[in-house]
Order: sequence, then structure tokens, then C-alpha cells
Amino acid sequence: MSASSKLPPFDPADPLGIDDLLDAEDLAIRDTVRGWAADRVLPYVAEWYESGELPVIRELARELGGLGALGMSLSGYGCAGASAVQYGLACLELEAADSGIRSLVSVQGSLAMYAVHRFGSEEQKRQWLPGMAAGEVIGCFGLTEPDHGSDPAGMRTYAKRDGSDWVLNGRKMWITNGSVAGVAVVWAQTEEGIRGFVVPAGSPGFSAPEIKHKWSLRASVTSELVLDDVRLPADAVLPEVTGLRGPLSCLSHARYGIVWGAMGAARSCFETAVEYAKSREQFGRPIGGFQLTQAKLADMAVELHKGILLAHHLGRRMDAGRLRPEQVSFGKLNNVREAIEICRTARTVLGANGISLEYPVMRHATNLESVLTYEGTVEMHQLVLGKALTGLDAFR
Ligand SMILES: Cc1cc2nc3c(=O)[nH]c(=O)nc-3n(C[C@H](O)[C@H](O)[C@H](O)COP(=O)(O)OP(=O)(O)OC[C@H]3O[C@@H](n4cnc5c(N)ncnc54)[C@H](O)[C@@H]3O)c2cc1C
Repeated sequence: MSASSKLPPFDPADPLGIDDLLDAEDLAIRDTVRGWAADRVLPYVAEWYESGELPVIRELARELGGLGALGMSLSGYGCAGASAVQYGLACLELEAADSGIRSLVSVQGSLAMYAVHRFGSEEQKRQWLPGMAAGEVIGCFGLTEPDHGSDPAGMRTYAKRDGSDWVLNGRKMWITNGSVAGVAVVWAQTEEGIRGFVVPAGSPGFSAPEIKHKWSLRASVTSELVLDDVRLPADAVLPEVTGLRGPLSCLSHARYGIVWGAMGAARSCFETAVEYAKSREQFGRPIGGFQLTQAKLADMAVELHKGILLAHHLGRRMDAGRLRPEQVSFGKLNNVREAIEICRTARTVLGANGISLEYPVMRHATNLESVLTYEGTVEMHQLVLGKALTGLDAFR
């Protein structure tokens, strides 16, 4: 008997056997989220994308809360207390459906909830986290401004003390979930440096007009935040952090989810391309039988599963408390860039059908253009790594 006959069969869906790294609970969580996305997102997402609206966002948020997917890797206050790997698996499955749905979950859990969980007072945690974990209250995270994106240190939004109150003025831009949020975590300059504020959406002077005309992340709500003399009590400030370290550590957590999520969009495009290549015939045979098509599929598979393996490695480091921000930059830079490449190659395999919304490929490819830019652009992550490799800061 040859040695290879004792080996497990080659699995085209898991060519490297990465599933062997997962335990029964990991697999159950993955299957649950995959099943939910198949029922509740995939049948409708093309329609949402085409109309540029997500009319059921509140319903989806509550269902995601019921699954334990909001603030999933946080503990206490109604959060699921899952591992980083489990959170990553959920991000992958959600983004395999649509990056907009994964964005909803990332912003809710890794940005808004994470900020309150890590830097909030006990009262703030008790007030906001259980409702946010259940999806009853949607949160947003306001860091970017019209003139300050990659360089948030220059932000102009300002919080001024007035007696014991704070008064906030400024504008935030490109804020996911903004118009549907019940609460906004807003970062602002103060006399002491940058501070985070928990702003209830009903506060007088606060508004969140939705941004229209996007050609990416169309099944996601993106908004401006307008803060016009918004008066908040003294206890609205997140007490445990001052300076950019606050928002940057939230971003690091969200970027980690993107390392996984981007591979979900890539997987969807890859699977679509394989199925198409097996059934579409030209020159009298399936296009998947041509060497040039096989080269594309092989290269896509290699990058897809290398990316998943990288995400898994980073997840295990996060679970062990050993994940550095530079390593998250490594993962985000590689996986989003490769995911876009996989989607673009899949589009060529589908020929003209590749541009149709009947298939998920173009939707994922255009979504990933936002994912490439938000949570630190490609260039920012190259600069983070460049600095870590050389010790020289090339940001300015
Ligand atoms: C759909 C969507 C949702 C978003 N959601 C949120 C959210 O929920 N909350 C939030 O706060 N923000 C959000 N953002 C904003 C996002 O984080 C910013 O767009 C991003 O940080 C880049 O900022 P910018 O668009 O102002 O680009 P800029 O910073 O103006 O950059 C423009 C270009 O210049 C490059 N560049 C800048 N500086 C340098 C340099 N030193 N060296 C080399 N190149 C440089 C950049 O890499 C980029 O290619 C979202 C964006 C999108 C598109």
C-alpha cells in the first residue's frame, strides 16, 4: 500500500487542511454564521446593493446580536466571550456574503463596543454594552474627518469644558452605521489631548446625514456626523484613555477582523469562478480545462488559503495575548490586497458575466475598494511595516 493511500483525500474547499486547526466549537460557530448569512443575506444582498440601501439593518443587527456576533470576543455585559479565532471565522463568513454586513459587525463590536469595553467607566459599560451586544442599539465610531483621514492627529473636532459639561463641535466623515446609530463614539481634541466621548444620537446638535452615491459598500450605511454645540455631561468622556492610542487600539482590533473578512469575499469569488469554469464551454470544452484558466484558479487558491492561514496564525497570537499592531498591519495589507486580486481574476474567468450583479464577483470587488482604504490604507500599513523594519518613520 502506498503512503499516499493512508492520507486524507484532497479537499478542494480546504486544500491545506486548515480545518484541522479548528475545534468542534469553532466549527459550530462557523457553520451557524454561514447558515445565517445563507438564509438572511445572500438571497437579498444583490437587491440591497443595487438600490444602495439596507432597509432591514435593524432587524439584521438584532439577529446578529442573537447569534452572539456583536462584540463577540468581548467578555461580560452580554457579550459572547468568544476566542479571537472564532470572531475571525465569523467575520470571514459574514464577508463571504457581503463586506457591508461584516462592516456592520466590525464597527459595532470592534470599534464602538470595544472602545466602551476597554476605555469606558463601569457605568458606561453597564449602560451601553448589553443593548449593543443584543443588537438593540447600533453604534458607530467617529474618527475620520473631511480633512483628516490617514492622519487623524490633526482632527479639528473639539470638546471644550463648560463648567462640568463638555461641548462638542465638529464634523466626522465616512462613518459606518452613522445614520442608524443610537450611540456614537466620537473622538475629539481637548485641552488634555484627544479624548473619546459617548454621544447618544438624540443629543441636541447631533445629526448624521447619510452619504449617498457610493459605488462600494452599497449594502452598508455610511454617514457624516455633525456636532453643533453638542452638550454632554462630565461622565460622557471615556475615562481610561487620552491620546491617539485610544482610537488606534480600537482600529487594531477591527483590522484584525478584516484580515479574516477579506478572505471571505475572496472565497466567494474563487468558488464562483471554479463553478463557472467547470460549466462554461468555449471551443467545445469547459473553460476550466484550459491551462490558462487552471493557472488562474491555482494562483487564486494559493493566495486564498495562504491568507486564511495567516489570519488563523494572527488569531492564535491574539488569543495568546501576543499580537502586535505591526502584525495586524501585515495581515491587513496582505489579505485585502490579495483578496482584491482574487476578485479581479475571478471576474476575468466569468467573462462578461463577471460584471453582472447576477454573480457576486463585481460586488465583492467593488466592496473591497473600501476595505482597502478604511481602517488604514494600503500605504499606511506599508509605512507601519516600513518603520518596524527600518526603525525610520516615513509618515511625514
Ligand atoms: C465605506 C467607508 C466606511 C468608513 N467607515 C469609517 C468609520 O466607521 N469610522 C471612521 O472614522 N472612518 C471611516 N472611514 C474612513 C476611512 O478610515 C478613511 O477613508 C481612511 O482612513 C483614509 O482617509 P482618507 O479617505 O481621508 O484618505 P487620505 O488620508 O486623504 O489619503 C489619500 C491617499 O493618500 C495616501 N497617503 C496619505 N498620507 C500618506 C503618506 N504619509 N505617505 C504616503 N501616502 C499617503 C493614502 O494612503 C491614500 O492613498 C470609512 C471609509 C469608507 C470608504
